[in-house]
Amino acid sequence: MDFLVDKVKDRIYAIAFWDTEWKSYNNCYLVLEEDGVIMIDSCKAEHSKYLLQAIHRLGKTADDVKLVLATHGHEDHVEGAEMFKNAKKIIHPKEGEEIGEFDDELSDQGVVGEFDYMLAGYHSPGSVIYYHRPSGILFTGDVLCFFGDPLSKEGLVSEGKELRQAWVDYLKSGGVSSSDLPGFLEALKILLHFQSEIMCTGHGGVLVGEVNEFVEELVSEAGNQLNLEAK
Ligand SMILES: [Zn+2]
Ligand SMILES: [Zn+2]
Repeated sequence: MDFLVDKVKDRIYAIAFWDTEWKSYNNCYLVLEEDGVIMIDSCKAEHSKYLLQAIHRLGKTADDVKLVLATHGHEDHVEGAEMFKNAKKIIHPKEGEEIGEFDDELSDQGVVGEFDYMLAGYHSPGSVIYYHRPSGILFTGDVLCFFGDPLSKEGLVSEGKELRQAWVDYLKSGGVSSSDLPGFLEALKILLHFQSEIMCTGHGGVLVGEVNEFVEELVSEAGNQLNLEAK
């Protein structure tokens, strides 16, 4: 089992598991605080023993995890949460009631501790964007991610130029279906509400720098695609 643990910024770490079944990196993130650990997403059940190893590598235990924020309810983002018996676990109510152990008290916009959040409602009905104010890190879940893509040559946490370009090209070539485009465009605009320095997604590379410029490029290209269709 291959997995990477990389520092994103002071106290904040990315863990990326290579999922041989889905042929993608699946990511989750840790914020180390003095009184415990916050996790953003928690990987598949089959990866949870490796998640535990990663947490130990950072000098923490499963019992130190005090809060789990799920960007959405897909298995690769919530199943590992079962290990964290001391944690409060939060998900948006639109992800449905089948997600056990999670509190679904979120509204469509608000604050959890040092995080601002907004409902994006794209990719899944209750997909939420989290923004960690002290670090300027945006957690996008699968609303915008690099599912199935290789990492940047510069590593997991990097500028990721080629990843950005690949997303723009994918959009240009009609990769987002016409039925998904309006929702995708609205979700991208939600990402622009935040002054993000770093973008941590549900799958693959973590992008450092000029996040909003990248999102604006996608907004513009998504707009082009919609116009093409209207003709
Ligand atoms: Zn998903
Ligand atoms: Zn996912």
